[in-house]
Amino acid sequence: MAKELRYDVVVVGAGPAGSTTARFAAEAGASVLMLERRAKVGVPVRCGELMPSMQEMRAMFPKAGDMEDIFEVPPALVSLRFNTIRIFSPKGTRYEVPFSGYTTYRDRLDQFFVSQATAAGAELLTGQRVTRVEAGAVHTADLDVRAKVIVGADGPLSIVAKAFGLPHSADLCPAVTAQVAGEFEPVPEMYFGTVAPGGYAWVIPKAGGANVGLGVSRKFARMPVSKYFDAFLSSKGLQAGRPMGKVVPMAMPVKRTVAGQAMLVGDAAGQVMAVNGGGIPMARIVGKVAGKTAAAHVLNGTPLSEYEREWRRQVYKPLRTAAHTKVLAELCFGSAWRTDAAMRVLGPRRMNNLIRCRPIFP
Ligand SMILES: Cc1cc2nc3c(=O)[nH]c(=O)nc-3n(C[C@H](O)[C@H](O)[C@H](O)COP(=O)(O)OP(=O)(O)OC[C@H]3O[C@@H](n4cnc5c(N)ncnc54)[C@H](O)[C@@H]3O)c2cc1C
Repeated sequence: MAKELRYDVVVVGAGPAGSTTARFAAEAGASVLMLERRAKVGVPVRCGELMPSMQEMRAMFPKAGDMEDIFEVPPALVSLRFNTIRIFSPKGTRYEVPFSGYTTYRDRLDQFFVSQATAAGAELLTGQRVTRVEAGAVHTADLDVRAKVIVGADGPLSIVAKAFGLPHSADLCPAVTAQVAGEFEPVPEMYFGTVAPGGYAWVIPKAGGANVGLGVSRKFARMPVSKYFDAFLSSKGLQAGRPMGKVVPMAMPVKRTVAGQAMLVGDAAGQVMAVNGGGIPMARIVGKVAGKTAAAHVLNGTPLSEYEREWRRQVYKPLRTAAHTKVLAELCFGSAWRTDAAMRVLGPRRMNNLIRCRPIFP
């Protein structure tokens, strides 16, 4: 028989969104349980492992307030720092865009975020796949967990979203990644065009190697993403370990992120920068809002709708701009020639705006 547990807040998923929500809810005094289906948090890595610097995040999301508590990481989690991103058009024209950030070790980064949550008092159970969600409870094969707030931080195909009638992201793009060994210049590279239709391929340098991967749009891809990945690797003369993949939400955040006693956070809510697929920083920002709101709800009766209002105030506008830019880009993605011409029109100055979720035309 399943064991029954009771908490103020149950968080489904211990990725960056779940652990951040759990941390801030626990810090504010709520009892919190994270349920994670993987045996080990963050394993396997399905990520490009690129993080913007805090300065870039502050400039992109000025309304998100203080960020030190969510973006400071121990030096051991910084694999390599960079100040420029290199972008290649379909015909090989190269653009250098100033952008500061670092590459990380995603498995250990996720584990660090979880350690912050458990240090604040949240509990974690791994190897616990939530298979059923209903008002007031979530169920795994051996647990019935009752809670006043249910947080769907379970990624783009969220079971919590489904159970509460909340939408998924309108554009889920398959992406794969693998590690390669070797020495690489400390400049992340992004390749556009037929190499990754509707998306891009990347070589993101790390200490002693690189993260290589690509994402495509289902609207433009004509074969499985793994085939594009193999072709990209051989074009670069690289040999990689087994690629790991997942879908990335690449559209506007979903229309509603709160229903009844449930909240959606991170990929589950489509809170990703649609121009580049960056979702870890977003998960940290919105997770903080979600955790604080969940605790305020159970301790003081604050409505959960406060989460929806506050995350939209902090980050919605740049995310919407990024989604609009992606729709514009799709007008060109069908043809390498058009993509090349559009990139020439953009030039480094407008690309600067594009990757920072700002409007590309005044
Ligand atoms: C190939 C690839 C490359 C990427 N590169 C970058 C990058 O370089 N930089 C960046 O910022 N972002 C990147 N992203 C996006 C980023 O990984 C996500 O936006 C981010 O992980 C979102 O965090 P999350 O916590 O919402 O979701 P996730 O990290 O997906 O966490 C969800 C968690 O929920 C668990 N879960 C799911 N269902 C259940 C269930 N039923 N029961 C229990 N647990 C469950 C999962 O196991 C997982 O641990 C990339 C994504 C992909 C696919």
